[in-house]
Amino acid sequence: MKNLNANDGGAALREVVALVEERTALRRSTIAIFDLDGTLFDNRTRTMFILREISEKFDSKCPALSAAFTRFQDLAVIDYSLDVTLRRLRVKGPAEVRLIEQEWARRFFSDEYQKYDMPLPGAKAYVDKVHRAGATVIYLTGRDVGRMLVGTTEVLRLYGFPVGVAGTMTIVKKESAQDDELFKKEVSGYIDRLGEVVAVFENEPANSNILQARFPGAASFFVETQHRPGAPRLRPGIRRIPDFLPAGRR
Ligand SMILES: [Mg+2]
Repeated sequence: MKNLNANDGGAALREVVALVEERTALRRSTIAIFDLDGTLFDNRTRTMFILREISEKFDSKCPALSAAFTRFQDLAVIDYSLDVTLRRLRVKGPAEVRLIEQEWARRFFSDEYQKYDMPLPGAKAYVDKVHRAGATVIYLTGRDVGRMLVGTTEVLRLYGFPVGVAGTMTIVKKESAQDDELFKKEVSGYIDRLGEVVAVFENEPANSNILQARFPGAASFFVETQHRPGAPRLRPGIRRIPDFLPAGRR
């Protein structure tokens, strides 16, 4: 976005809304792309709930996990990688770890458990603002149709994000095995034909870089939550934000 020169995240977020309003007044189409996991939603609560459930349901097979939950566990114990989380919880037995990994994956990548995610502070209000200003909001997520589309829609509706209505679009993967970065790269060609992309929000540095390169005119925001280990450096010009709260509300 050429005329974006604000020096703080909150102001940059506001500038996106102002630009959308400007374009809408001229009857021009604008698009804002939002990733879900780690961008609009904090997934740590989903994993915390799932681990707690596994510790109850399989208590005799998961003694170390059950023992961990005899104490209060702070959300900070949940890492991006499940194996790191389990190490922090002192779960080490290979059979126990294997069982937990299987049961966790079965739940984590399913419609039923997405309601345990929590929106990032300010996320719902901000997406709503961009939508009301006239942009098409695209939820672009590596979740897949078969296992997660219904839960994705449900949780967006549950928290009051615009979904299913005019000016919104949810794009998920056709196949779960599809590579995340390739998926986002391929889809961005399609999105480019729909209108002017004015803003992109991501929490994975690799995706952030890909989308910024694809949409150099858009304001690119990197949400500082959790991401894959070994990620590349962010390209210059990508703005870091901790969440979606307006300045002064944090
Ligand atoms: Mg993400």
